[in-house]
Amino acid sequence: MRGKIIAANWKMNLNLEQATNLMKDVRDRVDLEKFKSEVIIFPPSIYLESFEKNLTNSLVSLGAQDLSANIKGAYTGEISAQMLDFLHVEYALIGHSERRLNHKEDHDLLTRKVNQALQNNLKIIFACGETLEEKESRKAEEIVVQQVLKSLNQIQHERWSQITIAYEPVWAIGTGKTATPEDANSMHRVIREALFEKIGHLANDIKILYGGSVKPENAGELFKKPEIDGALVGGASLNYLDFIKIINAAE
Ligand code: PEP
Repeated sequence: MRGKIIAANWKMNLNLEQATNLMKDVRDRVDLEKFKSEVIIFPPSIYLESFEKNLTNSLVSLGAQDLSANIKGAYTGEISAQMLDFLHVEYALIGHSERRLNHKEDHDLLTRKVNQALQNNLKIIFACGETLEEKESRKAEEIVVQQVLKSLNQIQHERWSQITIAYEPVWAIGTGKTATPEDANSMHRVIREALFEKIGHLANDIKILYGGSVKPENAGELFKKPEIDGALVGGASLNYLDFIKIINAAE
């Protein structure tokens, strides 16, 4: 049985005090309740160091929203996978549509980020998802499978255990629209079948999260689907009570 993951992508929100308070509230609740799901927080990177200290003995995992495709050197503003590993950051989020669209991140760059992360012992949440235009032209499955296979094409067999996929239809992110549980489940199955062709039975162990306007009202129905192994949550993860309700819905 694949366990569930509930991941909070805070994006570029919350000042240091707000972020620290929210992290501590989530940490205390998660450590008290010992949820079955793994809970991950992806705060703005500038908070990672202080969060790491606060989460040392906690069940909450810590992730970086981005990392460099390069090893080291003259890359102003970038943060390397090795730096994250030194800070004991456990996860890296790669392939989020906001980076694909706003920073023109393509398959090639994402492959390099994936390789950097894996070589530095980070686990990856790899995001994929179609735009509204791609959905309307009935290309969603083809696009999503391509996103997954092209950027995850150089992974050694033993490294697949470091990979989690997040299917996030772009038209559902931050819009209040969600894929129906049936549609999300069916896309997750398509992704798993494509992975099965590539890596055989290992594909059965890979968690596939859903993301796109997940909130307390829709989380329960999504999590009932057999192919939905949790959620990557944006907006609703900024609200303590909503986020805890989403974790509870996965229990
Ligand atoms: C996201 O950006 O990963 C996301 C899922 O955002 P939201 O939950 O706000 O749609």
